[in-house]
Amino acid sequence: MIARTIDGKVIAASVRTDVAEAVKQLPGQPALAVVLVGDDPASHVYVASKAKQTVEAGMRSVEVRLPADTAEAALIAKIEALSRDPEIDGILVQLPLPKHIGEAIVLAALDPLKDVDGLTEANAGKLVLGKPGLRPCTPVGCVILAKSERSDLSGANVIVIGRSILVGKPAALLFLEQNATVTVAHSKTRDLKMVCRGADILVAAVGRPEMVRGDWIRPGAIVIDVGTNRVPAPEKGPDDQGKPKTKLVGDVHFAEACEVAAAVSPSPGGVGPMTIACLLRNTVLAACARRGWAIPHLLEGG
Ligand code: NAP
Repeated sequence: MIARTIDGKVIAASVRTDVAEAVKQLPGQPALAVVLVGDDPASHVYVASKAKQTVEAGMRSVEVRLPADTAEAALIAKIEALSRDPEIDGILVQLPLPKHIGEAIVLAALDPLKDVDGLTEANAGKLVLGKPGLRPCTPVGCVILAKSERSDLSGANVIVIGRSILVGKPAALLFLEQNATVTVAHSKTRDLKMVCRGADILVAAVGRPEMVRGDWIRPGAIVIDVGTNRVPAPEKGPDDQGKPKTKLVGDVHFAEACEVAAAVSPSPGGVGPMTIACLLRNTVLAACARRGWAIPHLLEGG
């Protein structure tokens, strides 16, 4: 079998188109603030890309860039000010933060109604309780990709490998919300390969390059690869400093998975683009909830 590629770029573009159409129907313009502390080059690239896509979707983008030595109290004061600002609908704190700043204490300062990453305790609690709230973007992206292949997930056996707060746990709860039968695996899971082979849908969120091999996958399964791992790529030759160049790979061995699965989302090019698209979607949902606007029908459900 040669699997279909689940093209996250195409599906994310369609989510962004829906968001842009929805924005046109709103009585005002939503605004997303992205807060970046420090000078991590990868984070700067992400933030610039988020800002560009926010503007392309017809929303206002506010970038707050703070130096790496920003005190924790100063960052909290900034988050509180954005939380109070009636013109701001969504706030995203780019993670990871510098080591001297506690992530939990910063997130606690964020108004849950503006928590477009769905990471505050209030929104995590709502997810567990099955109440409406802002859901974390990457796991929502995983569900949308899985539903692009199988619109009704009811009764599907789903394995989520990884139980992080950011990805694994919320992904498991979101698939449960879709009436899937969910198994959550982690570093202490015994005989992971056999557990994986029982799954109709396999979601890998581990952070270990190409850990999931072809013989872990049930023939005809849907595979969603969340992992993004930078590995040496000697085939690309040396960089300017004579070191081997690098490339990104997922948690799934893509070529082997394609021999067995029905459909595979690649990494890069799968879940990654969905994360920003879902962030834009969350910003509109946050604006509607806080300002009392009707949710445009394009963004209802899901
Ligand atoms: P994380 O916080 O490091 O969590 C990794 C999880 O994998 C943990 O639950 C860990 O189990 C489990 N694990 C580690 N080794 C394992 C093994 N050998 N067998 C089974 N489970 C194992 O990572 P994360 O934040 O969830 O991210 C996971 C991956 O997704 C990373 O590659 C990250 O870069 C990527 N990611 C991508 C996006 C995107 O937008 N594309 C967004 C977020 C993350 P324990 O709990 O037992 O330690």
